Amino acid sequence: MAKPKFLQCAVCGNQQPYEPFVPAICKKCESQWLEASYDYETFKRDILRGLPGRPTNMWRFQDVLPLSDPSALDLYPAGGTPLWLSQRFAPKLGHDRVYFKDERYGPTSSFKDRQAAVAVAAMNEGGVREAVIASTGNAAVAFAAACARAGSNFGFL
Ligand SMILES: [Zn+2]
Repeated sequence: MAKPKFLQCAVCGNQQPYEPFVPAICKKCESQWLEASYDYETFKRDILRGLPGRPTNMWRFQDVLPLSDPSALDLYPAGGTPLWLSQRFAPKLGHDRVYFKDERYGPTSSFKDRQAAVAVAAMNEGGVREAVIASTGNAAVAFAAACARAGSNFGFL
């Protein structure tokens, strides 16, 4: 159920169907600024119930990720990293509480694990077995780990 209901152009407001692996370009004005619109009302009801029976990692929110059937995939366990309450920074920043998201607990200790997990899962679901990404470091490591988990062969630059 996670496919977007439609894509909406941020420039002209045009709505068009989501098509996996088709470049996201507005068919009316050719802008590349398209936003995916999901069935947020259904997802909101599930969130308010606490998402029972869901994984504790990012796949907990699979309803708003671009996969048709996440249960059919061996998903890379990204996300679900802890939030730490800062005792020192909240007063300095003028807030009651400030939390830090600690991504060191991800599979490669990088926030790039999340994008790698979704991208590799979507590529696998779409039958894509080869891809190339540009990276200066941690994205390449995250994609390599996600690909290894998925058994895919991808190239890195
Ligand atoms: Zn447009």
